[in-house]
Order: sequence, then C-alpha cells, then structure tokens
Amino acid sequence: MLLTGCALSAEQSRISWAQRQGPEITDERLQRVKLAGQMLGAQGAGLTYHVLQNGSVTAYSWPSGDVYVSSGLIDRASDAEIAAAIAHELGHLMKELPKPAAAGLGGPSALQVEMEADAYGASILQKQGLKDSLLISLLQKVADATASSQCRGDIAERIHTLEASAGR
Ligand SMILES: [Zn+2]
Repeated sequence: MLLTGCALSAEQSRISWAQRQGPEITDERLQRVKLAGQMLGAQGAGLTYHVLQNGSVTAYSWPSGDVYVSSGLIDRASDAEIAAAIAHELGHLMKELPKPAAAGLGGPSALQVEMEADAYGASILQKQGLKDSLLISLLQKVADATASSQCRGDIAERIHTLEASAGR
C-alpha cells in the first residue's frame, strides 16, 4: 500500500508539473516526436511521448518513462535532432544518477549529469546508425534560444566535450 501511494503521488506531481509548463498538444508535432523516438530502436519505443505548447527549446524525462518535448524545440529542430534530444533523455533514464524529478536539456541538473546523459545519448545515436553530431547541432539550437550566459557557457562546454570524445 505504501508503494502504491508513492507511485500515485509521483504520477500526480508529473501531471501537475506538465500542466504548469504549458498545455499538452497532440497535433502533427506529437507525430514527429513519436517518429523520432522510433529512430532510436527498442529504447525509444519504450517511452511515452508528450508535446507541451511552450516556446522554450527543451525536453524533460520522468523516471516513469514519460518524455516531454517543447513545441519550441520541435519547431526549430530536424526530425533527427529531435531523436538526439530523446537520446539525451534516455541517458538520464538509463544512468539512474541522482537528479531532480524532471531532468531537462537546459534544466537545473549539474553540468556533469548533463554531460553523462550527452555521452550516453551520443552512443545510442551511433548504435542506431545516426550521427552523434546531431546532439551537437541540437545543443547549439538550445544555446541560441537561451538568454542566460551561464547556460550558454555550460552548453558550450558540453559541445566541446562531445567534440573531443568524437575525436573532432
Ligand atoms: Zn539533460
């Protein structure tokens, strides 16, 4: 009973969190996200996708396997870059690192956690025959859309790390 109660409250906090981020939309952008998830094979197929009407360029994942992508990201990204965003979120879900309830692309997590999710995401992209540079071009779009110079600096460091690990 205790476990059931915990699961219920976690679900309720996910839904109330999502409602604060913006209304959930189910237009053709949700279809694009689902197709991008399919590009990631079995891991991507195991997730539940949502699109939030929100102009920021970001994505979030919950331990339940629910992945939220902002309409701002979808409108700026190619299908393959959306797949890169989902691959990064899979990194958070697989790594089981200490993290806030919702771990975002440009969110409150520590830089090191983001870098580990990036590395995992890049490996998923490679495994599926996709270019790991998709994550770099996506992060550049996230940086371009953020007003915070601290966030842009963190993203620049993440891009540098991805480039270094790819030997570029
Ligand atoms: Zn992240």
